[in-house]
Amino acid sequence: MKHVTHWVDNKAWGGVGARQGDVYDPATGRKTGAVDFAAVADVDAAVASAAAAFPGWRATSLARRTEVLYRYRNLLVEHRAEIAELVSAEHGKVLSDAVGEVSRGIEVVEVACGIAQLIKGEHSENVSTRVDAYSVRQPLGVVAGITPFNFPAMVPLWMFPIAIAAGNAFVLKPSEKDPSASVRLAELFAEAGLPPGILGVVHGDAVAVDAILEHPGIAAVSFVGSTFVARHVYELAARTGKRVQALGGAKNHMVVMADADMDAAADAAVSAGYGSAGERCMAVSALVAVGGAGDVLVEKIRERVSALKVGPATDPEAEMGPLVTAAHRDRVASYLDAGAAEGASLVVDGRTHPTSGEAGGYFLGPSLFDDVTTEMSVYRDEIFGPVLSVLRVDTLDEALALIRSNPYGNGAAIFTNDGRAARTFEQEAEAGMIGINVPIPVPVAYYSFGGWNASLFGDLHVYGPDGVRFYTRTKAVTSRWSRDEPVTNALAFPTNR
Ligand code: NAD
Repeated sequence: MKHVTHWVDNKAWGGVGARQGDVYDPATGRKTGAVDFAAVADVDAAVASAAAAFPGWRATSLARRTEVLYRYRNLLVEHRAEIAELVSAEHGKVLSDAVGEVSRGIEVVEVACGIAQLIKGEHSENVSTRVDAYSVRQPLGVVAGITPFNFPAMVPLWMFPIAIAAGNAFVLKPSEKDPSASVRLAELFAEAGLPPGILGVVHGDAVAVDAILEHPGIAAVSFVGSTFVARHVYELAARTGKRVQALGGAKNHMVVMADADMDAAADAAVSAGYGSAGERCMAVSALVAVGGAGDVLVEKIRERVSALKVGPATDPEAEMGPLVTAAHRDRVASYLDAGAAEGASLVVDGRTHPTSGEAGGYFLGPSLFDDVTTEMSVYRDEIFGPVLSVLRVDTLDEALALIRSNPYGNGAAIFTNDGRAARTFEQEAEAGMIGINVPIPVPVAYYSFGGWNASLFGDLHVYGPDGVRFYTRTKAVTSRWSRDEPVTNALAFPTNR
């Protein structure tokens, strides 16, 4: 049994909290370890360590900070497979998928290596006679991140490399369901030369989260998780005067026009609908077939889904792993009965899909619904599992109206060969990230990631340029070093001449 504990001052730290959570291998259903849950005092200790380290790190030159980030990037590349294995062992996703998540996280570190360029301010000479004006971006101090179970390596890496590169100290509260990857990420950063206190990890549940939100020493909070908790984080963090970005759940639509390449669209729907067992915030869960595209598309998806190999990450042939917990597997399976009862056609029932995994694992095969309508719970709710729902409409306008009326707005994709339809979709679709013949349009690390509406509370997206804006504040300076100009009419409001 492994024991996962907090990471403070660049070392494992048991804390004072007496509670623990269980960690499972979702592929077997067996308990593999326990994770310490932070008490309020543990969060206080991590913040105190971060606050003590912040002034020194902030004063560390950009060149030295960049050097540490480069070393960190190289260590992550060296340990990519090991981190992916930690992810698979606690999350359940297959290894190729876990390697993909670590790789996308490394890309954020690569962008953070360019902090010297990203953090530059602006400078204007002679805004008034011999007066210059400029702006600088300064770090906020101690900032925190709270992350979900579904990307235990990538989502923390969306946050802390940029925050730390910008000169902040960071306290991470990862998901208690798969906590090991985050500790390994912190150990490697220490090995790369990050000073003690600049990255702390505290494990736990709502007690730790609320302690972070209420802590007067934390200046900003980044959250990624369900909409219910995102709203709570946004409200509480705003009430306690913190800067906050809270990314929530999703219901992503993929629109397929009748002129699309149907094989490419079916491949994309299968990879985006069932990859990581549908436990991705950018998973496609609503497939909108326009103008007669439905029949051929449903048939092509059905064929592909039936051939998918479901099994544990240790099976090199497996394309899709188990769900994260037994309770979540049962909740997802309950939608198969609910959808059928509400009148949808269950074309593929994942409960009968073969698996190479153990009987105790939380496996549920891929399922496909056709004839889904917007009132049904399979459409309204974020299922967060391997269930794809096909809705049929006559026109692109109807598809766009459907997306607009959905409360979420994370990603949306269109498959078409018509540039005009693609452009209309890009302009009109009510979502923060758009794919054109691309099913999971997660922006590259030098753009920024974020949804709209119930998928993001706050105004700045994560990582990339928005990440730098989020973790810094602007100071505008107006400066005169000349005594040549006599100060006249001293009490009038200064004008620029
Ligand atoms: P979750 O909201 O249950 O948990 C997220 C974090 O909040 C965890 O660290 C957890 O410990 C904490 N938490 C849980 N309940 C809490 C409570 N009542 N009070 C305070 N803190 C609490 O989410 P999850 O199940 O870990 O992850 C899946 C969800 O995350 C899905 O809804 C998915 O769409 C969303 N997600 C969104 C994005 C995005 O970028 N928008 C990315 C990944 C995941």
